[in-house]
Amino acid sequence: MTDTPKGAILQRDGETYAIVPRTPVGLVPRETLEALARVVQKYEIPIVKITSGQRLALVGMKADVIDDIWEDLGTDIGRATELCVHYAQACPGTAVCRFGVQDSLGMALELEKMYVGIDLPAKVKFGVSGCPFCCGESYVRDVGLIGTKKGWHVIFGGNSGGKPRIGDLLAENLDRDAAIELVRRALEYYKENGKKRERTARFMNRIGATQFKSALGLSD
Ligand code: SF4
Repeated sequence: MTDTPKGAILQRDGETYAIVPRTPVGLVPRETLEALARVVQKYEIPIVKITSGQRLALVGMKADVIDDIWEDLGTDIGRATELCVHYAQACPGTAVCRFGVQDSLGMALELEKMYVGIDLPAKVKFGVSGCPFCCGESYVRDVGLIGTKKGWHVIFGGNSGGKPRIGDLLAENLDRDAAIELVRRALEYYKENGKKRERTARFMNRIGATQFKSALGLSD
């Protein structure tokens, strides 16, 4: 059996792979888009799929071309199976949306930059919304932020999978730096106390929101 090529996910046929190039917060710069189009044509990639995490999956390649594809793409390798932060999903926020009251793209980029590649007990997804309409699905991501006129609500432990869980609201209307600091402390506690492969939703069910908040020095 050959080693799995870097950043590749074996498909159900047992012989082809998918890769998910890193496109932070779902933004795809022109250069990346052009590189993707060139690679799809050059390697005759049969499937390009937009994922739920606002990423583009290239699917159906043989193992021997994966390294060449990464080389041609020139993007960072997207994490899709490892135990770490996989992506930060964000709505457009104040960059373009008329309802936006906070810079969700900027916040999500900052969080992704801080955490991408850092080992954690299980995979972690961020969801950042620029206003209370919550288009960034913040309540059903491991870490959620929602912009308000006064700052940021911070949510932890959400999940939209087979056993969905609404995340717990940790704090309201924090300024940008305080929100980032609270996310840092929450993930630090989860890193130290979570079991291997225990997603934040199961972790919160196990220890309870009251104990989690108390450990972070927050009122319930
Ligand atoms: S959450 Fe608010 S700011 Fe973000 S896209 Fe939706 S309406 Fe716009």
